[in-house]
Amino acid sequence: MLPELFLGILIQNTNMLDFKYQTEQFADIRILRYQVKDFEALPIERKEQLYYLYKAALYGRDIIYDQNYKHNIIIRKTIENIIKTYSGDKANDDFGKFIEYCKRFWFSNGIHHHYSMDKFYPAIAEGYFKSLINNSTASLFPLRKGESIEEFQLFILPIIFDKNLDNKRVVLDHGVDLVDLSANNFYENVSQDEAELFYKEKLASDGKRPPSHGLNSKLVKEHGVLKELVWKADGMYSSAIKKMLFWLRKAEEVAENKQQGEALQKLILFYETGDLAIFDDYSIAWLKDTSSLIDVVNGFIEVYGDPLGKKATYESVVSIRDIEATKRAETVSGNAQWFEDNSSTDKKHKKEKVTGLSAKAINVVVQSGDCSPSGPIGINLPNAEWIREEYGSKSVTISNIIEAYDEASKDSGALKEFAFSDEEVALSKKWSNIASSLHVDLHEIIGHGSGKLVAGVSDPSETLKNYASTLEEARADLAALYFAIHPHLIELGLQPDIEVGYAEYNAYIRGGLMTQLVRVELGKNIEESHMRNRQLIAKWVFEKGQADNVLEKKIKKGKTYFVVNDYKKLRDLFGELLREVQRIKSEGDFEAGKDLVENYGVQVDYELHKEVLERWSKLNIAPYAGFINPKLEMKAGCGRINDVVISYPNDFMDQMLEYGEVYGSL
Ligand code: ZN
Repeated sequence: MLPELFLGILIQNTNMLDFKYQTEQFADIRILRYQVKDFEALPIERKEQLYYLYKAALYGRDIIYDQNYKHNIIIRKTIENIIKTYSGDKANDDFGKFIEYCKRFWFSNGIHHHYSMDKFYPAIAEGYFKSLINNSTASLFPLRKGESIEEFQLFILPIIFDKNLDNKRVVLDHGVDLVDLSANNFYENVSQDEAELFYKEKLASDGKRPPSHGLNSKLVKEHGVLKELVWKADGMYSSAIKKMLFWLRKAEEVAENKQQGEALQKLILFYETGDLAIFDDYSIAWLKDTSSLIDVVNGFIEVYGDPLGKKATYESVVSIRDIEATKRAETVSGNAQWFEDNSSTDKKHKKEKVTGLSAKAINVVVQSGDCSPSGPIGINLPNAEWIREEYGSKSVTISNIIEAYDEASKDSGALKEFAFSDEEVALSKKWSNIASSLHVDLHEIIGHGSGKLVAGVSDPSETLKNYASTLEEARADLAALYFAIHPHLIELGLQPDIEVGYAEYNAYIRGGLMTQLVRVELGKNIEESHMRNRQLIAKWVFEKGQADNVLEKKIKKGKTYFVVNDYKKLRDLFGELLREVQRIKSEGDFEAGKDLVENYGVQVDYELHKEVLERWSKLNIAPYAGFINPKLEMKAGCGRINDVVISYPNDFMDQMLEYGEVYGSL
C-alpha cells in the first residue's frame, strides 16, 4: 500500500472544470473530493454492479471502528445522537469544538489519530460534554441493558477524556508488550508472548502454502484457554457481514464475466465460513481477473493495525479501470522481468521468473473501512507471500485520488518553502506529476512484486515481526528510486526526460528528511511504517554519502535545506540499500532489519523537527487529507433499474451522519 507521498508539493497540469476539490480544513486535516470520470458513460449493467459493491463496501464500515478500539461504536453512536438531538445552544464556541472533535473522530474511524495512533481529546471541558449528554434524548444513547444515563456517563467520559486510558492504538516500541499496550481490538487478556506462541504453533503444522493465520479473527483467552473469535456470517461482526453478503450476492449475479463471478463467489463463501484457505482461493481467483472493467477489494486486507502483523483491518475499494493510464502501468509490468534482472539485489534473492504481475490504473467509486476517509494512492495485493511467489500480484495506481491530491495542493507554497533553489522548484513543477505517478507504478509493481525468500525462510511477519511492514515499504520505495534515473525508462516511453527522476530524488529527500515531519508531534518519535521507511532511506543515504558529498545540508537565512549534489551516486546508494533490505527480507535477518529501522527510521532530530514545524505552520496547510465519497443512487421504475446516478456531496459531516444512520451495522 502507498499513502499520499509528498505533502502538498505535487503540481497537476490538467484543469478540471469547476470541481471543488477541497471543501474544508480543521485540526490537522483537509477534506477533499474526487471525481469519477466516465461513470455516466458506463453501460447500465456495470453501474448496477457498482451500486451493489458500493452498498457492500459501506455496510462493512462499522467493522473498522470496532477493530480500532472496542468502544468506538458506542462513542460513534453517542456523538451522533448529541448532534441530532441536543437541545441547547449550537452556535457557541464550545459546541463548535465538540463538532471538531466529532469530525476528527470520523476521520480516524475512532478516538485514536489515524496516523500517529495517539488518542486525541476534545478541546472542551468534561463537564460540558456531560451537559451535552444531559440535554440530548436519553433513550437514543447506546445504553446497555438496565444502564442509567449516570452510569453511562461514568463509563464513557473516561474513554474520551482520560489521558492514561487506552491512549495508543498501535504500539510499536521495542522491549514492551506490544499486544498488551496497544488499544486496538484484536486481542483480549492475551500477552504478546502467548499470541506469538499461538500462531507459531499453528504455522508449524503447515505445508508450503500456509493460510494467513489470525487474519480474520480476534484472539481471546477464556478460562485460561486461547481461542479465536472469527469474523464471519455467524461469528463476530455477524450483523455487518450478513448485510455485506446480501449486496455481494447481488453483485455476483451481475458479474461482468466468469472469472469475476468466480472470485465473488469465493469471497462470499469466505465471509460465510471464515475459512482462510478459501480466502487464499479467493485471492488467486481475484488475481486472475485481469480483464474486467469493474474491480473490488473487499475483505480483511492490511495488517498495519496490529503490532504483530497478523490481524487485518476491513477495507473496501470499488473501482473502474482507467484505460488511458493503464497503458503506462502495463508497460512497467510487461517489463517486470527486465527490472528484476537489472535490480541491484543479489542474484540468489531474485525471482528467476516473474509471474503473473498485472498492473493497471483505476478510478475509485467508493472507499470504505480502513481506506476511508483517508485512503491509499496505490495498492498491491494479495499480501500472502506464497501466493505472490507462485501467482504474482495485482497492482493498481489510483488515478483520481492522485489527481485530487495534486489539484488540491497546487498553490500550497510548501514546495517553495522547502526546496533550496528556483531550479529545484522549476524541476518539480515541470515533472512532479509524472514523477509521482511513475513512482507509484514502480513502487507497487516492481517494488512489492519483486524478490524471493531463501528456501526454508518463513514469512516476513514471522521473521521480521514488527519491523516487517517498514522494511517491506522500504524495499518497494528503493526499487522505484533505483530505477527512477535509469535511461531504460526513457527507451520504454515511461518518462520523457531523465529530469523526471531528478525531480523525484529531490522530492524524496525533502519529504524523508523534512516535510513528512509535520505529521509528527514535537518531541515524539516516528511510528507509522511508511514514514519510518522514508526517513530510514533518506537518512541512510545522507549518512553513507557524506564522504562523497552526495547530499548536502545547507543553511540559508537560518533555514535548513537538503540538496542533492550527485544524482548518479545517490542512485548507487539507493541500490546498495535495496540490496541489503532485500537480503534482510530474503534471509529473515531480524537483527539487521531492527538495526536499520531503529537507527535510521525512528528517532527525529529535535531541532530540525522544530524548525520544520515552524516553517510549515506559516503555510497553513493541514498535513493530512482524506475524502468525501461520491454518492450512488438507484433510479428504479416498474420493478426494474432505470439508472444509477452519481453525485458529489460536499459536506463531510453530512456524509458521516448519513453513513452512521444508513450503514450503521454493529
Ligand atoms: Zn507499499
